[in-house]
Amino acid sequence: MQQPVIIITGAGRGIGAATAKLAAAKGYAVCVNYLHNQSSAQRVVEDIIRGGGKALAVAADVAIEADVLRLFKTATEQLGSVTALVNNAGILETQMRVDQMEIARLQRVFNTNIIGSFICAREAIKCMSTRLGGNGGAIVNLSSIAAQLGAPNEYVDYAASKGAIDAMTIGLAKEVADQGIRVNAVRPGVIYTDIHASGGEAGRVDRVKATVPMQRGGTADEVAQAIMWLLSTEASYVTGTFIDVSGGR
Ligand code: NAD
Repeated sequence: MQQPVIIITGAGRGIGAATAKLAAAKGYAVCVNYLHNQSSAQRVVEDIIRGGGKALAVAADVAIEADVLRLFKTATEQLGSVTALVNNAGILETQMRVDQMEIARLQRVFNTNIIGSFICAREAIKCMSTRLGGNGGAIVNLSSIAAQLGAPNEYVDYAASKGAIDAMTIGLAKEVADQGIRVNAVRPGVIYTDIHASGGEAGRVDRVKATVPMQRGGTADEVAQAIMWLLSTEASYVTGTFIDVSGGR
């Protein structure tokens, strides 16, 4: 039987890197996509190979269609037919009020967070669809509880892009269910990763954790566990839905 093959976007660090390592431990051959951080992506790959797994790092900007086509081609040629996708790559821009937000910022956020995820999902569906000769598969999109909370005064643009991820998840799940493909999303709360530094507040998790019912931030590993469950056969009747990994926030 062919080893399952997973593409994880933005997997050089954070939630993507944790998911890559967990996926390898669960028997997947892992395509570790990265944008600029080649050395950390390579370290993820080396960790996996040292543990006896199979992995490959591929540079691609998910917001550029030609890059995504190359990413899928490389993964398929070198690892085999793609059976799982984690749309993890995402960006957060500096916290600001909406009256300060410029169009260029909105375009950057939407290009990566929603258009990038959409293009990757489309390519994954082409690989997996039983109607197109594939053997089925599963997709997990990284949304955020910001899609529900709205992130006022910080990044309403980011929250809106994650709301679009939620709608895409439901629509794709219904459209491709009869093609052997499940599509779900994970909605993290505040998780200790470097994304908060790009939002201009590296210590955000510690500031916000008092508003979390469980009184703490989450870890990338805790998010990775939910992602891998949704991809697993244990979730074989689960599609078009969401798991909040948010400590109850
Ligand atoms: P992170 O910044 O550590 O990781 C994001 C990764 O995506 C980085 O490696 C980055 O290089 C990559 N990336 C960005 N733009 C890209 C592009 N155009 N093409 C390819 N890769 C690109 O952040 P993280 O916290 O691990 O975030 C992972 C996902 O989880 C994101 O979608 C984020 O929105 C979501 N999320 C995170 C939190 C949190 O609190 N950390 C909360 C809710 C949702």
